[in-house]
Amino acid sequence: MIEAVYKAMRDGKNGYAPSSGIKPALDAIRGEAARKGISTVQDVFVTTGVSETVDLCLTALLNPGDDLLTPCPDYPLYSAVLAKLGIGLNAYYLNEEDGWQPDLDDIKRKITPRTRGIVLINPNNPTGSVCSRATLEQIAELARRHNLVVFADEIYDKLILEDDEHIAMASVAPDVPVVTFGGLSKNYLAPGWRIGWGIVSGDPAVVKQYDEGIQRLLRSRLCANHPEQYAIKPALEGPQDHLPEVRKKLRSRRDLTVQWCNSTPRVSCVSPRGAFYAYPRIDIPERDDVFVKELILQKHVMVVHGSGFGQKPGTKHFRIVFLPDEKTLSIAYEAIAEFIGSRYR
Ligand code: PLP
Repeated sequence: MIEAVYKAMRDGKNGYAPSSGIKPALDAIRGEAARKGISTVQDVFVTTGVSETVDLCLTALLNPGDDLLTPCPDYPLYSAVLAKLGIGLNAYYLNEEDGWQPDLDDIKRKITPRTRGIVLINPNNPTGSVCSRATLEQIAELARRHNLVVFADEIYDKLILEDDEHIAMASVAPDVPVVTFGGLSKNYLAPGWRIGWGIVSGDPAVVKQYDEGIQRLLRSRLCANHPEQYAIKPALEGPQDHLPEVRKKLRSRRDLTVQWCNSTPRVSCVSPRGAFYAYPRIDIPERDDVFVKELILQKHVMVVHGSGFGQKPGTKHFRIVFLPDEKTLSIAYEAIAEFIGSRYR
């Protein structure tokens, strides 16, 4: 990837690129869509990270008064973009008792005549959950029935920590309008390169006009980083041999994390099945943001408070990123256990 970007810079690919992305990258993304089993691709485009894909796709879809179903807990980018657009939150719960799968009854209850779409983050940030095929099929059925666009944020799709394969939403719902998000930040460990993409699939008659809205927004911001786009083809089509190594390390760090959570008083955790996040529940008599702030001040260990992602009333959580090595994690976990033991006797 580095060689390809370096070569692109040396070859003078330093001007603006086509707004939707360079051809070799678009071809490689189409190839990736096919490998993910997405058979009804209508368009693909490259963006400045998935962050920009989310911004453009939500902006192109939503008008004042519309609403969009987003998960709770939620990766906060979605609520931030909705706040920018002046669109209120319509959050559906992920069910902790069911391994953090989307709560389908809650989704059904929350669909309104102005609901235009649903966001599905799979594998999930912050819970590390991965959706089952049955869940995906039921969400597809709801989208079909209520004319919803599904935003399938699959940026962690190669970081599955169990033996089962990741199932792409768009592969189980070829007829439904789906925008699948992917990028180099997580699977290819290059978040600073700011390269993401969108894959628009579904019935062409339904998605055509919406896709034209996305294309207009893509044109208005000129293009994504040009030389970095040359990394997409070698990333997606080159050797993938870093992935078994990454998954092996993450699995071992996940196991250490879950073992610590479930053997520490006041802490319990659903085992993450993908990505590199754990979202333990914590039973404490004060707010989780106070817990997190005091933990940083007293022990210099940083986690993120559950209330920053949203959670069911009456529950408290914190998010762990288990990217550091086992030694570092063990030191941090020991410090958190000490903090809990002394603060909440
Ligand atoms: N989507 C999810 C679920 C994420 O967790 C993140 C980053 O943490 C992003 C999108 C942002 O990705 P990018 O670096 O491609 O903007």
